[in-house]
Amino acid sequence: MPANLPQPDVLTVANFPSFLMEPLEAAYTVHQRLHETDPALFTRMAPRIRAIAASGDSKVGTELIAQLPALEIISVMGVGYDGIDVAAAKARGVVVTHTPGVLNDDVADLAIGLMLAWARQLPRADRYVRCGDWARGPLPLGRKVSGARLGLVGMGRIGQAIAHRAAAFGMSIAYTARSVRADVPYRHLPTAAALAAQSDFLVVITPGGAATRKLIDAQVLAALGPQGCLVNVARGSVVDEAALIAALQAGTLGGAALDVFENEPAVPQALRELDNVVLTPHIGSATAQTRRAMAELAFANLDAGLNGRALLTPVPECR
Ligand code: NAP
Repeated sequence: MPANLPQPDVLTVANFPSFLMEPLEAAYTVHQRLHETDPALFTRMAPRIRAIAASGDSKVGTELIAQLPALEIISVMGVGYDGIDVAAAKARGVVVTHTPGVLNDDVADLAIGLMLAWARQLPRADRYVRCGDWARGPLPLGRKVSGARLGLVGMGRIGQAIAHRAAAFGMSIAYTARSVRADVPYRHLPTAAALAAQSDFLVVITPGGAATRKLIDAQVLAALGPQGCLVNVARGSVVDEAALIAALQAGTLGGAALDVFENEPAVPQALRELDNVVLTPHIGSATAQTRRAMAELAFANLDAGLNGRALLTPVPECR
């Protein structure tokens, strides 16, 4: 940028790692969560802000968009953008970008890891050794994963990466999604309940948002049954958490391995007290390598948008 032109103003609405903050601050005037930390100053600065840098967890609603008359782009560091009001952005001519693809491997690795952790009781086994219980006898038997039936709710980029890994475990693979994919060799079932009835492990990997809210309800959990395990690496909103807790408490569902929750970072006490669950704090893409790749793509999108170049990865609604 020529020395006489002011740097564009960017509002960040998440706490980003240094490897995104540093390039942002080198290229732009960054207002770090100013709308929350100093609303009066934010009101004065708002007319200058041309971009929002958000994370997959960020909420950017109509109200915030309406406060930013110069806004051109919302760049999300994450593939899920259910917290962004894309319709409101589009109505104002604001484009939204995300970071698909670069995190497929990590989320798929975690989904497999959660299945193994639950079935082979890894957290419990670790505690068993540490607290000296091993001397009193062996750990109760776990459940075999290799060769089991996997049902995937969602067969997109990450769903396919999970299926690819599961195939190496000799699992039989089926899926549900609104459309049948001609490019995958797996069996399609029309509903999540039909899929659950034929699965040992049901892995949820759809987007969040209104279209998938409580897609995994009491009926789906009942179909999965007392031997079944629900794995959620999608969004907490996709599962009816109250129904899940009730099914786990009643033993009508065998167990669950969850990376995402309805009201993160709050996890219901009832869920935390159950011993047939494995819980992780939304770490699907949380490796140093992948977060750097996501940061690079999020920055590249923002930079392209502000400098009139073609966006690398706009969300489907903005293509
Ligand atoms: P994607 O390529 O867009 O795939 C989404 C899949 O979900 C597609 O197969 C889609 O098929 C299906 N789907 C969408 N709406 C559906 C509905 N209403 N009912 C049934 N199936 C539906 O997305 P992706 O890159 O695989 O990412 C999926 C999601 O994973 C993200 O949106 C994000 O929420 C989540 N995620 C979580 C983490 C984590 O840290 N745990 C990390 C990354 C991503 P149809 O359109 O044919 O229905």
